[in-house]
Amino acid sequence: MATHIDWRAWALSAGLGLLGAPLASAQLQVFACEPEWAALAQELGGEEVDVYSATHPGMDPHHVQAKPSLVARLRAADLSVCTGAGLEVGWLPLVQRRARNARVLPGAPGHFEAAAEVDLLDRPARLDRADGDLHGEGNPHVLLDPRRLEQIARSLALRLQQLDPENAHRHRARWDAFQARWREAEARWSRQSTPLRGRRAIVHHQEWVYLFDWLGIERVAALEPKPGVPPSLQHLSALAELPVADWVVVSPLDDPKAAHWLSARTGAPVVVLPHTVGALDGADDLVLLFDVVVAALLQALR
Ligand SMILES: [Zn+2]
Repeated sequence: MATHIDWRAWALSAGLGLLGAPLASAQLQVFACEPEWAALAQELGGEEVDVYSATHPGMDPHHVQAKPSLVARLRAADLSVCTGAGLEVGWLPLVQRRARNARVLPGAPGHFEAAAEVDLLDRPARLDRADGDLHGEGNPHVLLDPRRLEQIARSLALRLQQLDPENAHRHRARWDAFQARWREAEARWSRQSTPLRGRRAIVHHQEWVYLFDWLGIERVAALEPKPGVPPSLQHLSALAELPVADWVVVSPLDDPKAAHWLSARTGAPVVVLPHTVGALDGADDLVLLFDVVVAALLQALR
């Protein structure tokens, strides 16, 4: 994370050094499962946290190898900040078992799940991961709705105060500043995104549902017949018969072949959106991430 590197750079320039600095042990050690939660924890925790991100923007958070380095990081953590709702079910439980750190297990104050703080969309009547469905507990990709993100941020700020009462006043001040900045940005996005309302999108993976819920964009269909199941020619052919969508939305992680196939047949433009902080140039923090998303959707309409 850029913010993380900045902090390290600051520590170096302040002559604190990186190894064995007493300050480091005073910081809350944060294990973030995805770059967006690393960015949020860094924004809200400032100098009081040392944030590690288990994944980088080029990795699919559904599929991560439970490497020993992750185990070591979780073992040392005071707080884990993950998505939950089954997003990390393929790897995090294994890392948790191996790390043997009760401070960050479900139910402990050091365990934070973003999805537990908001209303989930696509929540099924019953848990079902049949046929490779990766979203059997409801859609876990809660990041891209600024309203939900504010709820998550508020809860995380409170958790930081709870875990680090000595610095509670600093955490509160950073939360106030974050909320003010966030609301200002949200008003700007609302103004800019008026032309997006009522538009129609086909997506590769169902990871834009919260974005569309916020922007009033209609979800037409997904190239994946089920979350995590690759597009088939039969499925794509059926989508080509639908009324033309305004975009075919993919992330930089998706194989774009299916999207381009559909685009060539229907004329709907393919638009690549960043799915997390750092996934595309310019999406370097949470505010910039939404700036890039809104701008890319508007640009593709022209
Ligand atoms: Zn997914």
